[in-house]
Amino acid sequence: MSDLYTGACACGKIQYECNAAPVFSWKCHCRDCQRASGSMLCPVMYVPKTALTISGQAKFYEVKAESGNAVRRGFCSECGSPVFIDAELVPELMGLWAASLDDPSRFTPQVEVWTNSAHAWTSLQDGLDKFEQAPTSEQMQKIIST
Ligand SMILES: [Zn+2]
Ligand SMILES: [Zn+2]
Repeated sequence: MSDLYTGACACGKIQYECNAAPVFSWKCHCRDCQRASGSMLCPVMYVPKTALTISGQAKFYEVKAESGNAVRRGFCSECGSPVFIDAELVPELMGLWAASLDDPSRFTPQVEVWTNSAHAWTSLQDGLDKFEQAPTSEQMQKIIST
C-alpha cells in the first residue's frame, strides 16, 4: 500500500496530500470533538507536518482540550467541514479527520480515547485499547511507538 494519502473538505476548497504513513490514529469521544463535529466522535489520524502539503486556506480556531492542552481546529470557511487538528500535545504532527480522506477505508484506528464521554448511541469498536480520558504521556508514547 502506498503511503500517499489525499483528501479534501466537502466543497473541495481545501485539499491535502500526505506522503507518509500516519504516526497514530484514534477515535476521540471528548465533548469538544463531539461539538466540533456535530456527531458522536472524532476519527482522526496524525501525520508528520513535514509530509503534508495543503492547498487552500483552512480557518483555525483554538480551544483548550479537556486535557488542558491547546488544540487548534482547522475547518473550511466555505463549507464548514472539519479537516485538521493541530494539537499542542503533538506539535510536529497534524491530525486529519478520517472522513476527509478520499479513501476513508484506509483509516485504521488503534485506540479510543475519552470513552467516559461516549454516548449510549455510540458503539465502541472491539479490539481497540480504550482510555476513559486522555492517555497519560507514558501511554501516549506507547501509542505513538506502535
Ligand atoms: Zn470546503
Ligand atoms: Zn476529542
